[in-house]
Amino acid sequence: MSGNKTIDLYKGPVDPNSGYLCMWMHWRPNPDDPDPQLPGQKLSMATFIPVKPEDRCLCGSGKQFRECCRARAYWHPLCPNPDGKNFSLMAPQSVAFKVADRAIVRERLMNDVRLQCTADDADSAFWVYWGDPALDNQHGTLCFGDIELKRNRILHVTAMSDLRMQTLLALLRDVLGDEFESPKIRHEPVTVIDKKTGRHIQVQPTASAENAKRG
Ligand SMILES: [Zn+2]
Repeated sequence: MSGNKTIDLYKGPVDPNSGYLCMWMHWRPNPDDPDPQLPGQKLSMATFIPVKPEDRCLCGSGKQFRECCRARAYWHPLCPNPDGKNFSLMAPQSVAFKVADRAIVRERLMNDVRLQCTADDADSAFWVYWGDPALDNQHGTLCFGDIELKRNRILHVTAMSDLRMQTLLALLRDVLGDEFESPKIRHEPVTVIDKKTGRHIQVQPTASAENAKRG
């Protein structure tokens, strides 16, 4: 996957206590390719979302911003939920499991309108989750997670938040039916920004979950 550029907003005139850092993933066709739709390109971008201290926190905690994300020592990025309106704390995670029949699973995933196939060859088929309807803006179509089906029948799912992973697993439960057993979710470290120094720091998933709970 190409085009994973991020903008270092912290170096700009942005106060982390006055809003959120939000990470977006877009997909857009690549007009220079023989087939502009396949593979197309994925673009990662960061935006700043200003908010007042007394506003409800965008992370979904239900608390006020000043009592929640503003009170943290670290700037913990958000990412948009699959509805495109609300947000969740970034919590990168993945699952991997083996399917019984690769051809059947591949065909069902190809036919699912919520998914867009961005690569398909002998080694792997790859889809991004768009949802239904897909949400477009000036940068492209919003993406909410990835599904890869490898040649060895391993299905690999990656998502950047708990809600996105739940959405992808619900889709797979639809698609796989009886074959689907709830797989074990592996949480990855999340990159946060120290509000005092502006340094990017990798926080282990348990620590970031604790952070989220403490608010
Ligand atoms: Zn919050």
